[in-house]
Amino acid sequence: MSALVLDGLTKRYGSTVAVHGASLRIPHGQFVCLLGPSGCGKTTLLRMIAGLEEPSGGRLLIDDRDITDTPAHTREFGMVFQSLALFPHLTAGENIAYPLRIRGVSRADQRRRAEELLELVRLPGVADRPVSKLSGGQRQRVAIARALALSPKLFLLDEPLSALDAKLREAMQIELKQLQRRLGITTIVVTHDQREAMTMADLVVVMSQGRIHQAASPMEVYRQPADAFVADFIGLTNLLDGQVVQPGTVQVPGGALSLPNLPPSGRVLLSIRPEEVIVHPTSGDGSNGSLNRLPGTLSFMRDLGSSVEFRIDVAGKEIIALSRPQDRPPVEPGGALSVELPPGSCVVLPPMVAS
Ligand code: ATP
Repeated sequence: MSALVLDGLTKRYGSTVAVHGASLRIPHGQFVCLLGPSGCGKTTLLRMIAGLEEPSGGRLLIDDRDITDTPAHTREFGMVFQSLALFPHLTAGENIAYPLRIRGVSRADQRRRAEELLELVRLPGVADRPVSKLSGGQRQRVAIARALALSPKLFLLDEPLSALDAKLREAMQIELKQLQRRLGITTIVVTHDQREAMTMADLVVVMSQGRIHQAASPMEVYRQPADAFVADFIGLTNLLDGQVVQPGTVQVPGGALSLPNLPPSGRVLLSIRPEEVIVHPTSGDGSNGSLNRLPGTLSFMRDLGSSVEFRIDVAGKEIIALSRPQDRPPVEPGGALSVELPPGSCVVLPPMVAS
C-alpha cells in the first residue's frame, strides 16, 4: 500500500532548528493532525511536505519514490492555508476552477468540475457568487473545494479552521473528517487545538520544540502518552514523581504504590488522569491500609455539571480527581480523605529531564 514517509526531515533557520529529524510513516488514506504548541515546528514540517520549504536534511518519499527535490507545483498536492488565499474579486466557481484554468482545461469542464466540487463540500448553487459575499464557513468550503480541484494525492491544511467561531469550527471539523472519509485521500492538518486533533485524526502527531514526541491514535496518545510532555499537553493529568524502592513498589508523595511495569530501580514519573482517581471518605484513623490509597486533605471542590472536581493535598502535592455527580463522596473542603490510584490507570513514564 502506498505511503508517505518522512525520513529524518530537518529544517534549520540559522541557529534555530525548527524541525529536528522528523521521521514518520503515514499509510495511505490516513487523516493526520500535526499537534503542538505555538512555535513547535508544525507549519515548517507541513511546508516541507508541500515542497514550499527546502529541508536542511532528511528525505521525503511517496510510494517509495524520493520527492525531496521535486518542485511543489509538480507534487500534485492540494493545500489550504490559514488565510485561505482566495481571490476576492472572483466568484466561488472561478476560484475553484482557477487551478484548472491555468492548466488549460476547457471552460465547460471548469464549470462542471466547480459545480461538482461545490456539491461535494455541501455548497451547491453558489458558483456565481463573489467570494467576498460568502460567510467565513462558506469561504472555508470554497478553499477546500479549490484545493481538491485537481484530485490531489495528498491534502495539506494549515490551521484551516482557526478563523471560525467555536460552534462553526466544531461543525466543520466533523464535516472535514466526513469529506476525507468519502474521498479516502491522505490528509495532513496542522492544529494547536487538541480537541480538534482528537475529533478528526486517525493519527495524532504530537510535537514540541521541533521534535515529534509521539505519533499514535487519539486514544493512545491520551491513554498511553509516550512521555511527560504528551501526558501534560493532551488533556488534564496528574504527574507524580516516584522512586522505585523495591521491585513493583514506588514511593510517591504520601505513600507507596504497588504497580506493574515499573523499572527495577531509579526515578520514574507517573501520569494518572483525574477521572481515574477514586476519592474515598477516610474512616476512623485516617488510614485504612488499602492498596494504592494515599491519605490527603480536600483543598477545593467544584461542581462542573457533568462532573465534580476535587483538588486534594497529598503530602504537599495537589492531586486532581473528577467524579460523576452521582458518585460524589461525602467530603467537604478541609476534610480528610484518601485517593485511590488504581494500578491499571497509572502510566509509568521516564523521569522529567530539565531542559
Ligand atoms: P504556530 O502554531 O505559532 O504557527 P508552528 O508550530 O507552526 O507555530 P513554525 O511556524 O513551524 O511553528 O516555527 C517553528 C520555529 O521556526 C519557530 O521558532 C519559528 O520562529 C521558526 N521559524 C519559522 N519560519 C522561519 C523563518 N522563515 N525564518 C526563521 N525562523 C523561522
